[in-house]
Amino acid sequence: MKNLFPLFASLCVLCGHLSAADLRVTTDFEGGSARVESIDQAARIIRFMPGGDPERGWPCWWYLRVDGLAQNERLTLDLAGSNLPARNNGKSTGKPLAAYWAMPERATFSTDGKTWRHTAPGKRDDGRIRYEITGDGGPLWIAWGPPFTPRDTDDLLAFAAKTLPAARPFDLARTREGRPVRGLCVSEATNAAPPGIWIHARQHAWESGSSWVARGLVEWLVSADADAQWLRQHAELFIVPIMDVDNVATGNGGKEANPRDHNRDWDDQPVYPEVAAAQKQLRAFIKAGRCDIFLDLHNPGPGDPTFFYTLDNALLKEPMITQRDRFIQFAYGRISKIKPLIPMSNQPKTTGASYHPLWRNISANWGCMNGNPHTVSLCLETIWNYQNCTTEGYRAVGKNLGLAIADFQRGKLAAK
Ligand SMILES: [Zn+2]
Repeated sequence: MKNLFPLFASLCVLCGHLSAADLRVTTDFEGGSARVESIDQAARIIRFMPGGDPERGWPCWWYLRVDGLAQNERLTLDLAGSNLPARNNGKSTGKPLAAYWAMPERATFSTDGKTWRHTAPGKRDDGRIRYEITGDGGPLWIAWGPPFTPRDTDDLLAFAAKTLPAARPFDLARTREGRPVRGLCVSEATNAAPPGIWIHARQHAWESGSSWVARGLVEWLVSADADAQWLRQHAELFIVPIMDVDNVATGNGGKEANPRDHNRDWDDQPVYPEVAAAQKQLRAFIKAGRCDIFLDLHNPGPGDPTFFYTLDNALLKEPMITQRDRFIQFAYGRISKIKPLIPMSNQPKTTGASYHPLWRNISANWGCMNGNPHTVSLCLETIWNYQNCTTEGYRAVGKNLGLAIADFQRGKLAAK
């Protein structure tokens, strides 16, 4: 038998079969996205760009699997921005998206598809960036940031339900393409109509960090932590880790998708069934006078620290302004003290008429304009292009956001 191996090996070469040492790139899995330009097998360089369709959002997300790298062998990932014309403000710009949206200083990788780490900082050159990774002999998964796909939602909801009997997974809606949008409802309140709190992430599919913030919040909320117990005894919380499931599952960017950006769909005739379903639950809260908090989780532009978006004060009335500012101070008080540091600004930015032509249809603005007088409705943008924005860093933001919600709700009760 031992004499057959050289024969088999030379047959493979003759037939053009891949030997074990050839690099292979695949993206045919949930969230996968890359367009390979070339693979230099000798120099171990994969040249690629994000694979997203601009009709389905900004093509800045990428996520690929690489096989064939030997243990301790060095791989170079040489990334360009997508060269396809992107959309903005609801129409095609005729130009590619600025490449920096696709180029974190550090890429994220995994050797098991579950545990995610940063690479060393990439080297920028001539509009491209090169990341280097050393193989461990098995497959490598490499992405823009830590992936979080519908399968991760399923795992998180199963974990929460197993940990806490009062944590109840629910199906919010079926997407336009028929995929389930799932979330978690948590309450141990004895009051029949406790304050309602709605938190969702990933209206923009590429912003994977926001789902990790939601995951950190859920993990804390179902834990034995005394503040988490207090909060679930004094509120009813709904958390949806991924809203735009279709674009997350297919590895598309989502933001500025055709026909509508998911977060510009908040009018009386939403295109996306999950937006209509979220509005229905929020309207039920509002009708009962118990729409206390509505948070929309995102990741911002590459240079921004963590911050909130809100409507201009000129467009708001009291007590909404005071309640919102109290909430922002509690959130800043918690999140800015996370170690290692997650930079955060306590100065919110505004999303009025000068921000976007469809500013009225942004979800947090919809919450302000349709909510109860005391509703706090905000978009939270968590920094992503920073060394501490790992899965642990994002989860710490989620936990501290939960603590801030407890601080805020407790303060309101004490003031009554
Ligand atoms: Zn966003």
